[in-house]
Amino acid sequence: MQFVPALLPSLIKAIDNVIETNAEEVTALDQAIGDGDHVTNLQRGIKALTAQSGELAQLDWVAAWQKIGMTMMTAVGGASGSLYGTLFVAMSKAARSRPVVSGVERPLDLQAFAEVFGSGVDAVKQRGKADAGEKTMLDVLIPVAASLRQAALDGVALPEVLRNISRVAIAGMESTKDMLATKGRASFLEERSRGHIDAGAKTSQLMICALVSVLAEHLTAPS
Ligand code: ADP
Ligand code: MG
Repeated sequence: MQFVPALLPSLIKAIDNVIETNAEEVTALDQAIGDGDHVTNLQRGIKALTAQSGELAQLDWVAAWQKIGMTMMTAVGGASGSLYGTLFVAMSKAARSRPVVSGVERPLDLQAFAEVFGSGVDAVKQRGKADAGEKTMLDVLIPVAASLRQAALDGVALPEVLRNISRVAIAGMESTKDMLATKGRASFLEERSRGHIDAGAKTSQLMICALVSVLAEHLTAPS
């Protein structure tokens, strides 16, 4: 597996494209049960990451995740800015104790990544005082983390891991539609929050699927 930080510029580009392509649809979701700023919040962060992408590509994963987290925290704003910031800063912190993830040339190892991502998602749960079933981005992040952990335990091959992640992310996003929002702005609507997909769950799913397709392409590309 050759998932090195040199891939970050193409990963960031893929995220930029998928959010741009789906901007109207996501804004409509956020207008229905939020305040409609989620896409512009995210786009501010993506723009800042794009400006840093050359620099990020030179770092090891520990330093890159730390920098991405700090950028998300300062550039994104809104609830999602501090939550995504927390995700990446916590991933960096968890990875620091695992030499297997450090080193510019060293590719990611599935088992280490599953643990690191799981720690990041746990930190988001704590930061947002939220859990699965509350109609937020966590309804995508938690099942994806669980699926990665299980895949690492079962020794699933990478192409299959990537396919599973996309499937799990889409199912998680769709599951938010009928949920009652109990966290974030959507919770103010109480019962009226039902019937709409959560905007943050939708963008998490879109970004995860975009990342997965770049990584899958990279796996099959001749080296
Ligand atoms: P804001 O709600 O401050 O305007 P955004 O619009 O950028 O921020 O992000 C809203 C998204 O953040 C929601 O759709 C939801 O997925 C996520 N979110 C909000 N509050 C929480 C929370 N406490 N825990 C996890 N995710 C949350
Ligand atoms: Mg908002």
